Amino acid sequence: MNLDALSRPVADILARVQEGRETTQAEATVLYGAKGADLKAICEVADGLRQKVNGDRVGFVVNRNINFTNICYMGCTFCGFAKRREDEGAEWLSLETIVERAREAQVRGATEVCIQGGIHPKMPGTYYRDIVLAIKAELPDMDIHAFSPFEIWYGAAKLKMSYADFIQDLKECGLGSIPGTAAEILDTEVRKQLTKDKLSTEKWVEIIRAAHQLGVPTTATIMYGHIDGPQHWAAHMALLRDIQKDHQGFTELVPLSFVHSDSPLFLDNPGKVRPGPTVDEVDAMHAVSRIFLHGQIDNIQTSWTKLGPERAQGMLAKGVNDFGGTLMNESISRAAGSEHGQEVTAFEMVQIIRAAGRVPVQRNTRYEVIEEFANHDPARQAPLVARDVHTPLDFMADLPEFLQRSA
Ligand code: SF4
Repeated sequence: MNLDALSRPVADILARVQEGRETTQAEATVLYGAKGADLKAICEVADGLRQKVNGDRVGFVVNRNINFTNICYMGCTFCGFAKRREDEGAEWLSLETIVERAREAQVRGATEVCIQGGIHPKMPGTYYRDIVLAIKAELPDMDIHAFSPFEIWYGAAKLKMSYADFIQDLKECGLGSIPGTAAEILDTEVRKQLTKDKLSTEKWVEIIRAAHQLGVPTTATIMYGHIDGPQHWAAHMALLRDIQKDHQGFTELVPLSFVHSDSPLFLDNPGKVRPGPTVDEVDAMHAVSRIFLHGQIDNIQTSWTKLGPERAQGMLAKGVNDFGGTLMNESISRAAGSEHGQEVTAFEMVQIIRAAGRVPVQRNTRYEVIEEFANHDPARQAPLVARDVHTPLDFMADLPEFLQRSA
């Protein structure tokens, strides 16, 4: 790589990265704001680190999202998902329905159910453990990846338990891992505007650290592209990296781009809130995060629900080594206005990853390999939920004809 063609600060930082030095928060702020040739070089460096750490394999997990209630009164300003109890479309699934959805998922090959819901004012704190126990009683092998730190905070408060005791109880019931959602941007001023700081940065960190100390892994997320900027992203990543150095409990980072269309934050503040990240910002988020977290968090995941399969595929050249879950149902991004589908089947995952020149690998929640699809395909399945118009493979116009027929 010719560093002479780059701006001096970026060239110097990338030279230090190539010497194997850890990137500082101040350096990450510079890199997150890069454009043009600088950004292209950053993406190349990130891709090189990805190759070194993960090789050509790109993982995905066959899973199902189960959003067991969308009733929530927390009033996060970015959220298009929450409803009041009397609203049309408000729902709170029974344990029987949740188990039935998990069973359907297993029949379709899922190894994981990802379960999150709103903060329902009438829900007992014991409902979280009841969900885990009910699924495990029927499906003992299913990985349960469930309950955001917001829900842990709420359940623990309702039962007057410490976070550690609440998580330990869930673990004993069969909880395997926790989504590191509700992180948004771990900066007090930004959080005040996004979540009214109901779940503060300190509480989020305390809950995540408690989980990691108990041996319950979590993902790490960032929601970006609204009222935030490179300095917030760098501070957020520095905090995640510090936590990881202490516990090694994060399985992956998942950047989540802000979906603005039905979000009150955007609709109620005309001209003051960005409509999601720019193309450059999406590239920078994935690539710089790979560089900054190198040596600490090995897996950088792209979110096809936020970006769509085509742009998500593009992230595989920018430091990303994981395509996330097949999901089967996705309601949170869609409620906020995302146009992307509810499911990318395992067959489609494999075509998308392979078309990017990588080797698709089905993994479980813990990143253990279940099956590599170098030269064969998973069975084709009709999507669980009827699709609107497009299929995840529509963008791949140059696919062989047989694939286009199947899509
Ligand atoms: S983001 Fe979660 S906690 Fe906040 S309003 Fe929406 S459902 Fe409720």
